[in-house]
Amino acid sequence: MPRFQLYIDGAFVDAAEAFESLDPATGTAWALMPAAGEAEINRAVEAADRAFHDPAWAGLTATQRGKLLMKLGDLVAQHAGRLAELETRDTGKIIRETRAQIGYVADYYRYFGGLADKIEGAHLPIDKPDMEVFLRREPIGVVAAIVPWNSQLFLSAVKLGPALAAGCTVVLKASEDGPAPLLEFARLIDAAGFPKGVVNIVTGFGEPAGRALTSHPKVARVAFTGGPATARQVVRNTAENLAHVTLELGGKSPVLVFADADLDSVSNAIIAGIFAATGQSCVAGSRLYVERPAHDRLVAILASKAAKIRIGDPQDEATEMGPLATARQRAHIEDNLARSVAAGARVMCGGGRPVGREAGWFFAPTIVSAADNTVPCVAEELFGPVLSVLSFDSEEEAIALANDTRFGLASGVFTTSLTRAHRVTRRLRAGIVWVNTYRAVSPIVPFGGYGQSGLGREGGSESVRDYTRTKSVWIRTSDDPVPDPFVMR
Ligand code: NAD
Repeated sequence: MPRFQLYIDGAFVDAAEAFESLDPATGTAWALMPAAGEAEINRAVEAADRAFHDPAWAGLTATQRGKLLMKLGDLVAQHAGRLAELETRDTGKIIRETRAQIGYVADYYRYFGGLADKIEGAHLPIDKPDMEVFLRREPIGVVAAIVPWNSQLFLSAVKLGPALAAGCTVVLKASEDGPAPLLEFARLIDAAGFPKGVVNIVTGFGEPAGRALTSHPKVARVAFTGGPATARQVVRNTAENLAHVTLELGGKSPVLVFADADLDSVSNAIIAGIFAATGQSCVAGSRLYVERPAHDRLVAILASKAAKIRIGDPQDEATEMGPLATARQRAHIEDNLARSVAAGARVMCGGGRPVGREAGWFFAPTIVSAADNTVPCVAEELFGPVLSVLSFDSEEEAIALANDTRFGLASGVFTTSLTRAHRVTRRLRAGIVWVNTYRAVSPIVPFGGYGQSGLGREGGSESVRDYTRTKSVWIRTSDDPVPDPFVMR
């Protein structure tokens, strides 16, 4: 069985403890992963702290940091095949998607590499004639980056990219579920030539590793992606170190379809939103609201397309939907669906384990009709291939239904009316609105949520600022004696 290691202070090391990682397609152990405990986390943070102050990193120009990131991007592109294979093996995400996504991750590193020497300070028109004031943007310090199991390379890139562009150092904790691709990615950090300790990659459980990392006194910045309950723990942990925190959390994203839309084309976008990645996507368009005249026709198209989705071995190029990543995840979905049916929801297709897929954690693409937003499958994040469908009679009602949630990550609007698209877009309370498309991302565009979906934005040029702090520098230009010392200037 392959055995993976932690990457701390430029060296590949074992942890005192290890655990078996399971292949979601078969449910059997395939690799041994290191489980970082407090001792390993402390070593990683200490290494990152030393590296932060070491001239080998702190003395590089922004342009030199940018070049290292560009090189990392090239290495990711070169090794995308191997990384994709590992991600598919360890998380069950289909190979078509992991290969394409990791290829694109390379562009994220290149984008942030290009930004490194564009993090500019400012000169201020100060209201005192004998002063010059300028602002320096300095790296914030040691970053604790924590990611969940879905899209780990992708979710790491939006943290590592801006952190390294700004001159920070990082301890990145992979999820305990499916950590293989990130532990392998450590080899590329090594090969790119980052000085030792600048990036440390560990895995381990929330307790003790996640807690020890996010509460460590030498951590200045926490970039977290995961579920809302864990996020609350993380915020409590940072009461210890008062680290600056950003949170990318879950969602229950609404998709509004108006009767004027082209339903055939819409159905593909809806399928992309809920059945791609087996629905294990934070932006999953899991609440579908259809204008009543289009409801039955759209549901019929969706049900017929869902029934044809090829479920199977995630390493097979032809597979369109693989297993869920964990048995826990499937149990969560089954429990939610049972409660939803008890609350009156009607399963229109799927609803259980697909026939012939007894091994592994497969779940059929599922469409459920629900009466209102209180039904559990409409109210709670499932993180699986379950689409809840409701209907509406007016634009006003559609907006109210969409906004009736504690989440606010993504949303979709399908209409051919330009004026309506703008009206609805303005009023949706969500960090992302996709109009006549769904599940599109880019390093250039900020990503993040409203409400319980998070705090802060990742991606886009502004995200780099979150890894800096401002130093205000005052320089007196007069040679006269300092005036009255008892009055503030
Ligand atoms: P999770 O919250 O259980 O775990 C996320 C990470 O937090 C893991 O690495 C875990 O080890 C760590 N962790 C657990 N307890 C901790 C603690 N006390 N202190 C510090 N770290 C701790 O999430 P999950 O089930 O792995 O992932 C699914 C969730 O992630 C969903 O809610 C999904 O919507 C969300 N997600 C959000 C985005 C986004 O960008 N908004 C992207 C992907 C996933």
